[in-house]
Amino acid sequence: MPLKKTFLILLCTSLIWSCTQQQTGTDRETEKKISRLISQMTLEEKMGQMNQISASNMGVDQRLAEAIKNGQVGSILNEVDPARVNAYQKIAVEESRLGIPLIVGRDVIHGFKTIFPVPLGMAATFNPAVVEQGARIAAREATASGVRWTFSPMLDIARDPRWGRIAEGFGEDTYLTSVMGEAMVKGYQGTDPADPASMAACVKHFAGYGAAEGGRDYNSTFIPERLLRNVYLPPFQKALDAGALSLMTSFNDNNGVPSTGNTFLLRNVLRDEWNFTGFVVSDWSSVTEMIPHGFAKDPAHAAYLAVKAGVDMDMMSFAYINHLPELVKEGDIPEKLLNEAVRNILRVKFRLGLFENPYVDENLHKDVFYAPDHLELAKQTATESVVMLKNDGTLPLDETRIKTLLITGPMADAPHDQLGTWVFDGEENATITPLKAIRDAHGKYIRILYEPALNHSRDNDPSGIRKAVQAARRADAVLVFTGEESILSGEAHCLANLDLQEGQSRLIEALQAVGKPVVTVVMAGRPLTIQKETRWSNALLYAFHPGTMGGPALADLIFGHEVPSGKLPVTFPLSSGQIPLYYNHNRTGRPFQGNETLLKDIPPKAGQTSLGNTSFYLDLGADPLFPFGYGLSYSSFAYTNITLDKVTYGKDEVIELNFDLTNTGKYTATEIAQLYICDITGSVTRPVRELKFFERITLNPGESRTVNWTLPVNELAFRDLNMDLTVEPGQFELWVAGDSVSGEPVLFEVH
Ligand code: BGC
Repeated sequence: MPLKKTFLILLCTSLIWSCTQQQTGTDRETEKKISRLISQMTLEEKMGQMNQISASNMGVDQRLAEAIKNGQVGSILNEVDPARVNAYQKIAVEESRLGIPLIVGRDVIHGFKTIFPVPLGMAATFNPAVVEQGARIAAREATASGVRWTFSPMLDIARDPRWGRIAEGFGEDTYLTSVMGEAMVKGYQGTDPADPASMAACVKHFAGYGAAEGGRDYNSTFIPERLLRNVYLPPFQKALDAGALSLMTSFNDNNGVPSTGNTFLLRNVLRDEWNFTGFVVSDWSSVTEMIPHGFAKDPAHAAYLAVKAGVDMDMMSFAYINHLPELVKEGDIPEKLLNEAVRNILRVKFRLGLFENPYVDENLHKDVFYAPDHLELAKQTATESVVMLKNDGTLPLDETRIKTLLITGPMADAPHDQLGTWVFDGEENATITPLKAIRDAHGKYIRILYEPALNHSRDNDPSGIRKAVQAARRADAVLVFTGEESILSGEAHCLANLDLQEGQSRLIEALQAVGKPVVTVVMAGRPLTIQKETRWSNALLYAFHPGTMGGPALADLIFGHEVPSGKLPVTFPLSSGQIPLYYNHNRTGRPFQGNETLLKDIPPKAGQTSLGNTSFYLDLGADPLFPFGYGLSYSSFAYTNITLDKVTYGKDEVIELNFDLTNTGKYTATEIAQLYICDITGSVTRPVRELKFFERITLNPGESRTVNWTLPVNELAFRDLNMDLTVEPGQFELWVAGDSVSGEPVLFEVH
């Protein structure tokens, strides 16, 4: 090895070594400071650190101020006025006995002021880089208000679109959710959580919350350990490995044990297996909700169960502050347990630099909120999040040929509703709707007719529909903006029926009967069952509530200034009766073949076994309306020459694969190429396909590129019959394709 190179390697090694030493030194110092503080704390002050209270966000609340002064509050949530945050903080730092700063939390779920698409839309970008930058922007804006802790990202795998909270997560896939969760944590916390523009992430809801039975929020879940570990837990582990400083428990009971009292999850998995050193917060009053669950008999019992299980901070149930001191005094809870919890909380306060830098600059927000680069990124994210589900060539609209355009539908100019769920701080007057964006960009040379037709997504007024139909007769093309209002998805907002609300469906049907090209845009927080509406439309764009800049993003896509690239992060069922329907289901002994006789073709008195004995519905078959990973472009792509470097691999090896991707269309466009595998035989049944990697690849028309990917064989590991994380020897199939059902499998073997 040349001397220069050896020297460089030595230098780097010693630098890394000294950084690690320094880090360890700092940690040791911090732990000492924490010990010193804990040794000075009364039992009540310890409880205070473990107690989180909501502020009113309307003025300095004197009772809260008094409690902070008495050391009875360690954290507040829902205060975003920087002056009031500073006022509360000043009391904590200067007037409480030990001067421990507060940690101020808020639900900053998809942006603070500048609102990005709902997380399900962010997932549709398959672009972790924009998601990370978006989270950074959210942190910059939120911290300018004094918020240093966000209750995000939500990493709940959701295989049921009836569940309203599907909007808040990254969909049905474990790998995609893991990648996006990691990106968000990195964005929120930055390279240094102590940077005043960084905030602590809180991964939630631990665990299994998205599997609520029947898609009804807060409902029980029944996830066996293998499924939990294979599907639901990996995104949490990945986010914690990325440094997430806190974690929130979930409301559900899994197999009878509420998460807030689940020692297996909070101690065995989280602390013992994953070595988590941040803190655990309950969900809002989930400590005392163990009483209606029938798991705790009273608030004291609930506090006992939660603290024993490993919940460090009680959000808004007051069970800790009211009952833990007594439980400790009576010897039911060892004080050591509280010291551990307080240590976890103080460690995060130190990591955020709150002891050195407790206050927010009260003028900062003026330069930060809705900064031009924030809006630009929100627009890019929204653009990349839109999924084109159908196009017969109507899109993009040719601005030189359309003279009169009808814009209609209740979501065309609904600035509040296009923001989506969990928007506490973003404002509708900063939001640009599709109507405004299209008028601004094209109103000079296209005559734009506007008929809302329906006042909101649940409106049924036939007279509005009639007016829209009349206007359609005068137009060259129709853009109809439909979907669901933001209030129809999110927490507790579940639906049994996922059809577009009646009036909207009738509107689309009536418009297509006019005979002009109809482009339907659906803005929603979840997949809706839109089979008919897709048939009635010449083209259909799906925008999971796209946020502040949703209008300009859609305008650019509709007129071809941008090319759709989003792909579905979740399966779209034909009907809610098919749910749960997700791409990575286990292999069944009798898979659907596609030649089974469906309801309409069953002859009278058909023989018992004549229809096909496979896994399907007589009325709907077994396929979804659109599969996971699906999404169209104005261009088209061909995958050829998929080759692996070997046919057999050892468990420690890396698969090297190549393929040629060609843009076979007329537009420069981005394809999201996806890598799936299937483990053909296992000690337990395995999914038909699993996503293992993806990449956004941009190509010019006619351009072809050889893409090289690597997949470490250990990424094929799963929990086997004995619950060990193993790569089992045997045959595998591998696909490289544009969605979860396309492509030809390539075989390889692991020995
Ligand atoms: C939700 C959490 C949220 C918390 C604080 C709860 O109702 O489940 O996701 O972070 O409220 O607002």
